[in-house]
Amino acid sequence: METAACLSKAAPLGPNEQEIARRFKRHTETALTLASQPARPCQPPLPPSYQLLDDVELDVRLTRARALLGRRVVVLGHHYQRDEIIKFADFRGDSFQLARQAASRRDAEFIVFCGVHFMAESADLLSGPEQQVILPNLEAGCSMADMAQLEAVDECWQAVSSLGGSSILPVTYINSSADVKAFCGAHGGAVCTSANASAVLSWALDHGERVLFLPDEHLGRNTARRLGLDPAAVVLWDPAEPQGGIDAGEPRRARLILWKGYCSVHMRFTTAQIAKARECQPGVSVVVHPECRSEVVLAADAVGSTEFIAKTIREAPAGSQWAVGTEVQFVNRLAKEHPDKQVSCLDPVVCPCSSMYRIHPSYLLWVLERLLADEVVNRIVVPTAVAKWARIALDRMLAIT
Ligand code: SF4
Repeated sequence: METAACLSKAAPLGPNEQEIARRFKRHTETALTLASQPARPCQPPLPPSYQLLDDVELDVRLTRARALLGRRVVVLGHHYQRDEIIKFADFRGDSFQLARQAASRRDAEFIVFCGVHFMAESADLLSGPEQQVILPNLEAGCSMADMAQLEAVDECWQAVSSLGGSSILPVTYINSSADVKAFCGAHGGAVCTSANASAVLSWALDHGERVLFLPDEHLGRNTARRLGLDPAAVVLWDPAEPQGGIDAGEPRRARLILWKGYCSVHMRFTTAQIAKARECQPGVSVVVHPECRSEVVLAADAVGSTEFIAKTIREAPAGSQWAVGTEVQFVNRLAKEHPDKQVSCLDPVVCPCSSMYRIHPSYLLWVLERLLADEVVNRIVVPTAVAKWARIALDRMLAIT
């Protein structure tokens, strides 16, 4: 496995690389290897002794396990995790930040990623060969990432490629499986995050006649608008419909083909909620994540990644009021950490990201106590061939941004 140091600032896509990428068609060796990534394993039930632990005992045993494991383990906590998990995290942040934090702790034998499946895969891609990545609950998968399965992506690719044209580049949001990242790497494309989507999409539009952006329609659409792309040049590919649900001629005219995927958490936010917040709290500022619908992003005062939202609130003047359109565990933590500001979730009937919520403290305790017993459970390993191309897609992102 390559190390994070190998994820150096790679040169932008060169002619040779484009030629290599073009050679990857269905049924080639690489495509077969990509398709061979095993299905995600199911999470076995927790041992009964872990199922009935109360909060106090969980806290005491987690504290003990963390202390005994010391620097052998690094625990990563995504911003959307509950407080009882964040309390035991060495680092907290968004998915890419955390994967890089993991890479900076080469002395840790084990990386316990309190997040969702694709994040643990990214940590495996960026960590050292001797490090083992653990996801406390294997059921913690991101529903958005799951909307872009490799087979369906490949079908879309074949359909769009058959229209001819000089080049198509795929760009995938980091919220995607390693095999979809690898697909992008093998076809000359790149990964992006919500923080650098503009730079990566701009690069792709400069280098390809068309761009396939997946899996989040809304991040793609919001980024395209920010770049000034003509909305008429954007089409939506619905993987649930025959031929993506679009007219045969549409992709030919398109510069940007958006995959119809979404985040159910960010889809909850509406312009009516923004209007209500402004009515009830004159002077409130609204900040939302770019996974929200376009009309919500347009109506907000500010839009940006999870880190951008954290920075915006941190740097806001005391006494300011904020209605935040993103995951509620994160918003509630921001409110607690900034008592001099009024911070609330834009959605009054909030519910947390159910995928993230699957990392219950009892699962974290179970994986840590198994490590104390010299047993590694719930290890996440990206197969070597997939990892190679996924790293290439990540490398391109680093080269662009
Ligand atoms: S908040 Fe949305 S995008 Fe993030 S992990 Fe949950 S379902 Fe996936």
